[in-house]
Amino acid sequence: MTDRYDVVVLGAGPAGLGAALNLVRARFRTLVLDANRPRNAATLHSHGYPTRDGISPLELRKLGREEIERYPEAEVQNGKATRVRRDGDGFVVEASGVRGAPDRVVTADVVAVCTGLLEEFPQLPGIRAFYGTSLHSCILCDAYEHAGQPIALIGETVDLADEARLLSRWTDDLIVFTNGSAAVTRDEEARLAERGIRVERRPVRDVTGDRDGLTGVLLVDDELVPRRAGFLRPAYRPALDYLAELELAVDADGLLVADADGRTSAPGVYAAGDSVAPGPQQLIVAAGAGARLAAAVLRDRA
Ligand SMILES: Cc1cc2nc3c(=O)[nH]c(=O)nc-3n(C[C@H](O)[C@H](O)[C@H](O)COP(=O)(O)OP(=O)(O)OC[C@H]3O[C@@H](n4cnc5c(N)ncnc54)[C@H](O)[C@@H]3O)c2cc1C
Repeated sequence: MTDRYDVVVLGAGPAGLGAALNLVRARFRTLVLDANRPRNAATLHSHGYPTRDGISPLELRKLGREEIERYPEAEVQNGKATRVRRDGDGFVVEASGVRGAPDRVVTADVVAVCTGLLEEFPQLPGIRAFYGTSLHSCILCDAYEHAGQPIALIGETVDLADEARLLSRWTDDLIVFTNGSAAVTRDEEARLAERGIRVERRPVRDVTGDRDGLTGVLLVDDELVPRRAGFLRPAYRPALDYLAELELAVDADGLLVADADGRTSAPGVYAAGDSVAPGPQQLIVAAGAGARLAAAVLRDRA
């Protein structure tokens, strides 16, 4: 027999947790399925979340799960959604169990998509060793800890010059590495130079470091440019293949298109957090979007 829920929330990051907490408090019988691979797991400290500034991301998720599990309307399970399809007015969700949890096939009136994003980095072997400690992707989240340091900004996307302008708030020793790409135009380079920001166009071979963190950026010709911290501009890829049969509207980057309350193009399918256009934001923003999603479900089903 297939278990039936009012709502299945996919993903237990802050978006899914914010949605689920408010859904169970609205007395919706809610299943949360989570693949347990949060994007921010690389870091030890999360910043900017009121009352929890500096908390470990895993602790924040654990607290969120525990709060939800106190409600009899809630069930939280490790599982990865592999397929969602329509079934009459509702949905069938298929999930493979992760970490010893069983596979599941459940039905629900509503599906809440909160499964975040995947990041793709420049192909530099050393990135993983420093990502989350002295190499970061979220400037507002992590620049404060590196204020005043020699900082690298590495990326190949067209918003690189904008990101450089943001970063210059925290340091006056910033070098932008385009890794051989044309990400920064000559005009932008001139404007960055006015702020004392240098653009390095040679391809990057790797990042170097020691036990204390990043020490530099190694260029293709073996010149080492000393840096104590770095910011990467990853490419973001939503992993939403499991929703293919619903034919949801997405933007040019594949991010879900939803209204401000999380309603997607398909009735009964809602979405919140990083997998929704315009893409990655912050923990508190994702949690807030989850709460808005829950309020929309409540209103739509009243
Ligand atoms: C290294 C790093 C550091 C960061 N530091 C900060 C910070 O200090 N402060 C801050 O505010 N923000 C920070 N962020 C940003 C923040 O982590 C994200 O904006 C936030 O986690 C987005 O929440 P979310 O719920 O949308 O997605 P996530 O938190 O990514 O959660 C998505 C969840 O869905 C699960 N999932 C994926 N696919 C499926 C599926 N098919 N079925 C079921 N579950 C699935 C994933 O395993 C994951 O658990 C950081 C990000 C990174 C990468």
